[in-house]
Amino acid sequence: MSETTTRSLPDLGTRTDEITIFAGPCSVESAEQFDEVAEALAECGLTWIRGGAFKPRTNPHSFQGLGEEALQIMASAGKRYNLRILTEVVDSAHCPLVHSYVDGLQIGTRNMANFSLLKNIGLVTADSHKMVLFKRGMAATISEWLAAAEYITMSSNQNVMMCERGLRTFETATRFTLDISAVPVIHKQSLFPICVDVSHPAGVRDLVPSLAKASVAAGCDALMIEVHPNPPAALSDGPQQLTPRQFKELLEELRELAAVLNKKIV
Ligand code: PEP
Ligand code: MN
Repeated sequence: MSETTTRSLPDLGTRTDEITIFAGPCSVESAEQFDEVAEALAECGLTWIRGGAFKPRTNPHSFQGLGEEALQIMASAGKRYNLRILTEVVDSAHCPLVHSYVDGLQIGTRNMANFSLLKNIGLVTADSHKMVLFKRGMAATISEWLAAAEYITMSSNQNVMMCERGLRTFETATRFTLDISAVPVIHKQSLFPICVDVSHPAGVRDLVPSLAKASVAAGCDALMIEVHPNPPAALSDGPQQLTPRQFKELLEELRELAAVLNKKIV
């Protein structure tokens, strides 16, 4: 692969001079909760919002997401605030339903090696070429992750964005150990853009700004940041979510940093 080859992929909206932010709540909990975040992101001039509709919870008794109701809430807020919507698909049976509502389909860390789900997501997006955000398995090597991406692209949708989200290691000071080297390695070894999810490795909100700045400095093409109007009341991942106000403060700092690198945050 030559140095001059562009890393941008068709229809992705992520060029080398843009850093896309996928912010939004861990879980979609109600129309009011989601709208409040959507309004804040639109005010910031952002283009996407994320939210969990089907939640892959480690504990089966934890909140599992609102399912199709969440997809409806996301679609209507997306229209109202002119934001593209991104959500995780956890089951092959949900592929056509989720695809019919969203602009981007996320594959979570727990499903990186669920090859039948990857193939089905490739098939359901084969004509639309909707963006697939492909998270790294928490114990997967970069070469396993890149190989698995081909299960998605083999049906013709090349519009895949890789997403580093932290690894399971011996370290307990953070929820997961963020592998920042994944950013330059993915750029070196593939044509895919790379997002860094800074909320799940942090586990607590005060670490989020440092990880976000480090990711921008490392050259990421996108960031994922969880934002909730009232984190202590969140039904999932409360400790790591930023309030809209905290998010706006961070975004200002990230925009200054991005400007130094001749990049723009969208
Ligand atoms: C998420 O982004 O909502 C999520 C569950 O992330 P991960 O798959 O990285 O744990
Ligand atoms: Mn979460």
